[in-house]
Amino acid sequence: MLFHSTRGKDTDKTFEEVLMQGLASDGGLFMPDSWPQVDMDHLKNLSSFLDVAKYIVPMYTGSSFDNKDVEKVLEKTWHDFEKKELIETFDIDKNLTVLELFHGPTAAFKDFGLQLAAAFFNKTLQVQNKTAIVFGATSGDTGSAAIDACKDFDLIKSFILIPDGNMSEIQRKQMTTVNRANVFPISVNGTFDDCQDIVKKGFKERSFLREDQYLLAVNSINWVRIIGQICYYFFASLKVNKFSEPLNFSVPTGNFGNVFACYAASKMGMPLSKIIVAVNSNDILDRFFKNNDYSKMDVTETISPSMDISVASNFERLLYDFYLNRDSKKCSDHYTHFLNNGIKIDEKVWKKSSELFLSYCINDDSTYECMQHFSENFNYIMDPHTAVAAKAAIKLNKTLSNKTVILSTAHPAKFPTALENAGINLDNIPKNLEKVLSMTEEDYKLSVSEDSIFNFIKEKNK
Ligand SMILES: *Cc1c(COP(=O)(O)O)cnc(C)c1O
Repeated sequence: MLFHSTRGKDTDKTFEEVLMQGLASDGGLFMPDSWPQVDMDHLKNLSSFLDVAKYIVPMYTGSSFDNKDVEKVLEKTWHDFEKKELIETFDIDKNLTVLELFHGPTAAFKDFGLQLAAAFFNKTLQVQNKTAIVFGATSGDTGSAAIDACKDFDLIKSFILIPDGNMSEIQRKQMTTVNRANVFPISVNGTFDDCQDIVKKGFKERSFLREDQYLLAVNSINWVRIIGQICYYFFASLKVNKFSEPLNFSVPTGNFGNVFACYAASKMGMPLSKIIVAVNSNDILDRFFKNNDYSKMDVTETISPSMDISVASNFERLLYDFYLNRDSKKCSDHYTHFLNNGIKIDEKVWKKSSELFLSYCINDDSTYECMQHFSENFNYIMDPHTAVAAKAAIKLNKTLSNKTVILSTAHPAKFPTALENAGINLDNIPKNLEKVLSMTEEDYKLSVSEDSIFNFIKEKNK
């Protein structure tokens, strides 16, 4: 299996190239040349998440690694989960199930994609005898999952910029209490956007890199993260009904990586009824699915901060594959004009959406209300991101047939302020989080200037 860019320039890339490069050279996103097809009879007989992963992952890695080597990597990939099965389900009623993806070390679903990314980064560095720097900015869950996933690999040094404010104490402490020689959490007196700008400049200049060193991004467009997520959709379908009938999945959505993984699983043969794209007040995707209007607006801060986005990066993959029939010229044209004109596609083509997609926009008040509803009626406490997906599933219930799976993307203990505001009392918190809260923080405080940050990295990279 080889890969190419949605905008047409990069072609015939191996898994390893796509992994280490992240974004394509034309600004597009990497896609597999075709959708590998699963054998359902084989999948039906598997029982663990790891077995599913051992079947799915090699479908994408063959251009770079032996299947036997991949299996060995996978056996060590998903670690420090608090549940033996990695994923648990909670049945609300006969038509509604919550899929708990937050039992990993950082208590958010991002552990699935980032632990897989880190494992393959490390494998590649070992084979090529190189080292790497991970450089990124975070507004919440990505930074902690990236740091945790990379911390045991000495060939990788992580530098993560943490903007002041709008992050829960737990989220910050997950990054600042790691205490390893190859992990550098950097507190910056600026906003997330300031931090993003510096990261972008860093990727352009690369002034702090040594020769023969990779600079790795951990944002959600890396194809390897999508692979990790495809695995849990197959596992969920297996666990919920052994693929006996197509399910609906309600997905709390920001950058669209999680939704795209669901779509990819269906293209590979997983039975699927509908995907519910559930968003908070940052509604660019809801505007697209309802009105064929994909245009950028300012970010609004909400109580589900990991979904506060102005554009949904992975949407480009869906546009390319589902709507444009893999026409890279058209895809490239849309993105050339995106910032000025937004994206509006041919009306007939856009109507195709309803075959597969439903969307709903849930504001903060509805989110609180939903958290309260599940707590009072089902004694089930959910985090605000999960509540956005749960509320969307309830709102759309009448239009759905079959069973609906709500993806729970974070443990509620990560968002204590939202719980408090909803009047919900949580009395058990995961051991991983409890430990983090009791530790003292160590971080580096730098000003928001590129000089101070790039010099710091250079110094620590000697
Ligand atoms: C990142 C994140 C999301 C959004 O996922 P995307 O793949 O970016 O759509 C939702 N919930 C939580 C808790 C997250 O950390």
